[in-house]
Amino acid sequence: GQRPATEAVVALSVESVIAGGQPIQVGYDARFVREGGRWLYAGVAWNELASTHFLLKYDGNNHDAAWAQRTLDLAEEVYAQVTADLGVTSLLPQEIKVYDDGELFRTSASLSLPDWTTGWTESGASIKIQLLDDSERTLQRAIAHELTHQVLFAQGLSSPLAGGIDGGLAWLHEGVANFEAGRVIPLGAHWAAGQYSPLVQAAVRHQDEFPLYSMPPWEDVPDDQVGLFYAQSWSVVSFIVEQHGLPGLRRFIAQSIVSQAGTETRPIDDTAANLHAALGVDPESFLAEWQEYARVAGVPDDLVSLARRFPPERALAHVAILSSPEFSGREAGAPGADLTAAYIAEQFASLGLLPLGGPLTGTAWLGSSSSGVITNLQFPGGPLTRTETGGLDYLQQFPISYTHLISVPTLTLLDADGTGLHEFTYRQDFLESAGEGITEGELVWVHAEDLEGMHFGGAVVLERDVGDPVARAVQLQDHGAGGLIVATDKESRNFQVGHVRPITGSEITIPVFEITGTAFEMLLERLGMEYRDLSFAPPAFPLGVQMQQTLVRSPVTATPTANVLGLLPGSDPDLADEVLIVGAHYDHVGQSPDGLYFPGANQNASGVGVLLETVRVWQSAGYRPARSVLFAAWGAEELDSAGVAHYLAHPAVPLTQTVGVIALDSVGNGRGYRLLFYGTREDLPLVHRVEAGTAELNRRAQRRISTGEGWQTLFSSTGIPTVKFIWDEAERDFYMPTDTADHIDPDRLAFSGEILTLISSWLARQ
Ligand SMILES: [Zn+2]
Repeated sequence: GQRPATEAVVALSVESVIAGGQPIQVGYDARFVREGGRWLYAGVAWNELASTHFLLKYDGNNHDAAWAQRTLDLAEEVYAQVTADLGVTSLLPQEIKVYDDGELFRTSASLSLPDWTTGWTESGASIKIQLLDDSERTLQRAIAHELTHQVLFAQGLSSPLAGGIDGGLAWLHEGVANFEAGRVIPLGAHWAAGQYSPLVQAAVRHQDEFPLYSMPPWEDVPDDQVGLFYAQSWSVVSFIVEQHGLPGLRRFIAQSIVSQAGTETRPIDDTAANLHAALGVDPESFLAEWQEYARVAGVPDDLVSLARRFPPERALAHVAILSSPEFSGREAGAPGADLTAAYIAEQFASLGLLPLGGPLTGTAWLGSSSSGVITNLQFPGGPLTRTETGGLDYLQQFPISYTHLISVPTLTLLDADGTGLHEFTYRQDFLESAGEGITEGELVWVHAEDLEGMHFGGAVVLERDVGDPVARAVQLQDHGAGGLIVATDKESRNFQVGHVRPITGSEITIPVFEITGTAFEMLLERLGMEYRDLSFAPPAFPLGVQMQQTLVRSPVTATPTANVLGLLPGSDPDLADEVLIVGAHYDHVGQSPDGLYFPGANQNASGVGVLLETVRVWQSAGYRPARSVLFAAWGAEELDSAGVAHYLAHPAVPLTQTVGVIALDSVGNGRGYRLLFYGTREDLPLVHRVEAGTAELNRRAQRRISTGEGWQTLFSSTGIPTVKFIWDEAERDFYMPTDTADHIDPDRLAFSGEILTLISSWLARQ
């Protein structure tokens, strides 16, 4: 009594061959329906979900309904953008088919498509998207590209595929589609520029570009020129919009449609005439101006001039102040860091930045949510002041575990009766490396890795080359050692260095010192021994003398320190909720009880000085960014980037609205000859702007692949593009007392300031 099935899903395997090509095999689930006693093929078995303007078809084996809903949400965002930009009020609902399998995609679209193609559509047909990865950015750009083609078809701009007269408008189709794809994601124009600008720039410089007034139809574009065709089309459309705005682009498209309809017998390309009719431009000068725009990769002239106003002497003045003894090395948790934070906050206030440090709950002026995160960054009516608290609150406070040396460590050699034989000199002969405590015990030479069966009964262990001294100290203290002295090959100058403190109380309860090679030789001399005597000694060999070590720290306490956060609100209501972060850490490694202090001029008072003067250049020139820019002076970077980690857990603006991060670290000098910038392909929009910008400033910078070090990588790991500037080989002088303001090179500081001013204003502008 069962009714016969009327529908079936069958796993199909299909082989396709283009004449002369290799066969392509695809497997997929196909739907069959039973009609009139026969099974009929009904296409791919899709799952479906609809929204206002789209019907999404996708493979339910690979994606769930939540994914489909999210994809439709992205598509609706794209729809709003593209139709508004192109002035379209109604468009028939669009079908989007998403392919996970590239071969099935090409079988359904065109077998000749390259495998990196993300989308395909034809007039009135569905939008076909190939998913190359999980990136929402890529998906959204692909939908925008194909939807733009459909909007242009609907407006009457004919198919870029058709040969003959209409084919000549392929460049306009692709140019607008690529331009719109760049408009739908944050910093999208900069992403697109990173992808396309270098190609066009190289072509124009070698006069290899397609002739602008006779762009070829698609079928005449050689395979190896497809990338340039896309790139040049994007560049010309971007240039039109930069010069004439979106209304200009709409007029040019409308004019192209009119001329296309009226010129059935003319060989197409009326681009020159259309530009003149729609925009009133002289085609010759338009061509020359576009070529110049492409040649400089779009770097805006006015921003180059703005960047050249950067005052290195003012930045250097900040460096001199912050590296002076009054700031005592700016150690997080110590008064010098608090003084520095107050100095920066005062600067931010004088620059008119909005204080974003304090708790935001209950403030009305930003429409903040109860969670303390700003949900809406639109600032009607210009700069706002915080009235609820009455004061300016730039400091975002957070606790750190703080401890410091309270006396100069000592190391004393005693004879068996406890009479002093020799006093070693701190930093000259030895330096603390871990742990704490006061100990006095028999000195025992140990040269066995395996401590099985040994117990030191409070003796002080002397060893060479222990690898990781922390791990070794833990092992030795478990075997009863009262202290550890590691004999190194280092020289005294290696001990003129500021220590980066452990973040939490260490598990080491004994004092651990390193001694120089010279101090070790002196010790052996005192003992009347030579090194080879020790080599032949038993694994644990008492040396017949006593050693006393003192290493006294304050108790570890939870101590407040702070990030200093100031916002320059964006002027464009559509872009103000996109935030660029420009950041530099202000803390350093403080001072030592022996009176030595670490000025940290290059590391990183230089970054702070450059950051402050960049804001001042903007203010004095009346430059107001379209996007919002958060200037962040981070605290406690030397403690494993504690300040940035705190910020990421308590962001002043949502991370989803944070579009890029520029990091400055030691930008005033280095032993090398170049300013370096770190970034990967994931950082393309920033990296490309740096490359284009340095060329226009007639400077040289070199890109390095990110090593995963530095506070900015914490932002990278949330998917936010970053770029970090540091002078080549600056690290050779890190944490040295010689890192003083008079070692900063004003010209190098100027370069850092100019490139920061240029790229931050560029990224914040469009
Ligand atoms: Zn296209």
